[in-house]
Amino acid sequence: MMIMQNNLGRQYSLHAGEYKKKACEVLDSGWYILGNEVSAFEEEWADYIGSKYCVGLASGLDALWISFRLLGVGTGAEVIVCANAYIACVMGISINGATPVFVEPDEYDNIDADKIEAAINDKTKAILAVHLYGQACDMTKIMNLARKYDLKVVEDCAQSHGNHWQGKTVGNFGDIGCFSFYPSKGCGAFGDAGCIVTDDEKLAEKFRIFRNYGSEKRYHNMIVGSNSRLDEMQAGLLRVKLNHLDEFNEERCRIAERYYECIENPLIQFPKVRPGADSTWHQFVIHVPGHRNQLMEYLKDQGIGTLIHYPIPPHLSEAYAYLGYKRGDFPIAEQYADEVLSLPMYNGMTDQEQQMLIDTINNFKVEGITNA
Ligand SMILES: *Cc1c(COP(=O)(O)O)cnc(C)c1O
Repeated sequence: MMIMQNNLGRQYSLHAGEYKKKACEVLDSGWYILGNEVSAFEEEWADYIGSKYCVGLASGLDALWISFRLLGVGTGAEVIVCANAYIACVMGISINGATPVFVEPDEYDNIDADKIEAAINDKTKAILAVHLYGQACDMTKIMNLARKYDLKVVEDCAQSHGNHWQGKTVGNFGDIGCFSFYPSKGCGAFGDAGCIVTDDEKLAEKFRIFRNYGSEKRYHNMIVGSNSRLDEMQAGLLRVKLNHLDEFNEERCRIAERYYECIENPLIQFPKVRPGADSTWHQFVIHVPGHRNQLMEYLKDQGIGTLIHYPIPPHLSEAYAYLGYKRGDFPIAEQYADEVLSLPMYNGMTDQEQQMLIDTINNFKVEGITNA
């Protein structure tokens, strides 16, 4: 038996008939860009998240960079982001010329809100709160700082579709909530897709204009915009997915619970969920200090796939060499990059697959260290 880290075909097969029916409906409609499916999805997604407005876009990265563009956060501005973020978060900031300022993660793998204040100065214009791995940041502390220093807050909810901070759905705390519907995300499309949510009507209108070459009316271009439209096919398929999103999240929670209960290996540290947050388990990320690569190789030899989210922290990536950081500048993020491992976790994962993963991990030993 082989187990993949993620298996999108499994989730698809749970409701394949519904997707095929919707795809045929969109094909037969003769209307493929900005039509009824997009408007309906925008309404349904805003409703699901609990925001007033949603604007469909072409990707999660577009949601991020267009947000900063429309908030006027560009050249000369600094934006605070966690040092263990996905590279797209950082590119969303720097595409407009703003400078990412990194803050170390805490024991919950998200930005350490207690370290943000020390990174704020006159140039700081915004905080990008990345809800990594399916778990909310401490939005109470982040919003308090934003009010104190008059900062914009953009939430990156790409990995957190429908989870909460103190009972409120993420995406609703800051000025803008950004979502990616990349196929592996909670509510994944069958291609690239994304959106923003906001309660600000004027800002929502700006996104609608910007995503369509800066025009509201065909050939009347008011500003220099982009082409970042969510298409009808993805919107239609996302509507089907959204109907099942709660089921998907619940299923992953059950798998996570089983891992907590049944995996017993002293070499492994389980993910911690912050009091006040819940997790939708976009990833089940364990820490394996000192033995991560060994465990990864061992699992691979047994036919079990894993991934590292992420092996190179953004400040050490080639793309950001111009910022002038070196190894040692963000030791916690660097340590995490060396010890995190994302275990298989997907909808449609069988009991047998879960058990094989559990047994295999429980049998992992390193010479000189015995299992308790
Ligand atoms: C996936 C992801 C993105 C980028 O989304 P795309 O749709 O791939 O452009 C941004 N931020 C985070 C945290 C992500 O996981």
